[in-house]
Amino acid sequence: MSERSFADWQEAAAQLTLPTQAIIDGQDCDAASGATFAVINPATGQLLTDVARCDAEDVDRAVAAARRAFEQRVWCGLAPAVRKQYLQRFATLLAEHAQQIALLEALDMGKPISNALGYDGPATARCIAWNAEAIDKIYDEQAPVGDEALALISREPLGVVAAIVPWNFPTVMAAWKLGPALATGNSVILKPSEKSPLTAILLGQLAREAGLPDGVLQVLPGFGHEAGAALGTHPDVDCITFTGSTAVGKNLMVMAAQSNLKRTFMECGGKSAHIVFADGNLKAAAETAAGAIFYNQGEVCTAGSRLLVEDSIYDEFIHALKAQAARWQPGHPLDPASPMGAIVDKMQWQRILDYIQIGQSEGATLLCGGKACQPVEGGYFIEPTIFMDVDASMRICQEEIFGPVLCVQRFSSEAQAIAMANDSDYGLAAGLWSQNIQRAIRVSRQLRAGTVFVNNWDGGDMTMPFGGYKQSGNGRDKSLHALEKYTELKATWIQL
Ligand code: NAD
Repeated sequence: MSERSFADWQEAAAQLTLPTQAIIDGQDCDAASGATFAVINPATGQLLTDVARCDAEDVDRAVAAARRAFEQRVWCGLAPAVRKQYLQRFATLLAEHAQQIALLEALDMGKPISNALGYDGPATARCIAWNAEAIDKIYDEQAPVGDEALALISREPLGVVAAIVPWNFPTVMAAWKLGPALATGNSVILKPSEKSPLTAILLGQLAREAGLPDGVLQVLPGFGHEAGAALGTHPDVDCITFTGSTAVGKNLMVMAAQSNLKRTFMECGGKSAHIVFADGNLKAAAETAAGAIFYNQGEVCTAGSRLLVEDSIYDEFIHALKAQAARWQPGHPLDPASPMGAIVDKMQWQRILDYIQIGQSEGATLLCGGKACQPVEGGYFIEPTIFMDVDASMRICQEEIFGPVLCVQRFSSEAQAIAMANDSDYGLAAGLWSQNIQRAIRVSRQLRAGTVFVNNWDGGDMTMPFGGYKQSGNGRDKSLHALEKYTELKATWIQL
């Protein structure tokens, strides 16, 4: 099955029934207003389908159902081992639908089918399974207080959790929230990005098929300023768990503060520095540096978008990097041979092209790329683009472009590399190449980032926390640390 050809995928796409409705209280339903929005295939510019455009009224309905499920304890009242079984069924269904998930992602947001098959589908299933497995192995605590009392420290679910997620890895970002929030017993409302709503609806359908009670996982497709803001300001939502841009993350924290002080966990943007020291494995580093910015069209929060190269190897390295970039030409997302696909939509495509223009007017030199291209008629594609002679003061070096655009800078000492890497409002990821273990550890300790990659880029696993320093966010997705976010800590003092 995984050996499907371009033609096979096109045929599968033609036969696919696309999900279009919200899921509220266990039912497939239209928005109360009857409104819909168009979902466009970015590889062709053609309409895929129209999807329910939920707004504040639908949010009210979903929050009421979520609260009811929570208060009736149909989910949080189950033994962890029983919730585990439901979530394992959910994970099994996700794994069984990995090809459908991959196809929907490729159609909806333009990523290459090979990426979606290799990462998005399997990582989504694994995340749910991992959290399910964890939940009946976590113990509460008893405080050491002596004979006069029994002092219990226990964790309880928050209640109603709203998960607002972006379009770049729609199912994986959703799973990073759903896994721990559902495992700990919360009712969850998932609001996908308006740019990629389809797989979120499928996730909701599969959770229902796995037997999750009504109201426990609901899906509200819709726009950020409508459904998203209604969740952010809702007085009966206990937590917003968000992945997206820093600007929207800040906005949601204000909404939380001005409404009911709901818990807020923000996973936001990045401008991650990738440092190549002269004593690194330069062949591997050049190949990895290209992948770090061009994978998923550069629409990756941890994209290695600032490449810092040591002076003594600069020319040689740039030569190797340019050759690697040439291998990332975009193609049709349904062609398994395409290394890069389409940019998610026209707005993002134009934004990236504007940044390329800004880079040129700021005085950076184009090493390669810099233009839109059309491997498929009507689609939104951009060539792999590299700027040299980039200065830290330039906007292209400070602002998140979220596209296949790399900024290259030079450094001449270890201290300078660290200072340049940390010269950012963001702190999501950083990486370095060096064969000197002393230097690798010394430098990684000084990099102000939530994740540091040594002699690789984007290494990680469900067992490792993921999140940012500085304006890249707070809280962590993945690992056992993520479970803590979705619980309140209760102290019970029993006088003896
Ligand atoms: P975005 O902030 O525009 O949108 C994210 C989500 O927020 C969407 O569901 C959107 O509808 C919603 N939203 C928008 N405006 C809102 C409002 N006023 N109120 C409530 N909700 C609102 O981000 P995006 O363009 O979808 O995603 C790209 C961003 O996500 C990049 O900055 C990227 O770095 C970041 N990201 C971060 C991580 C991480 O783990 N740190 C992972 C993936 C993506």
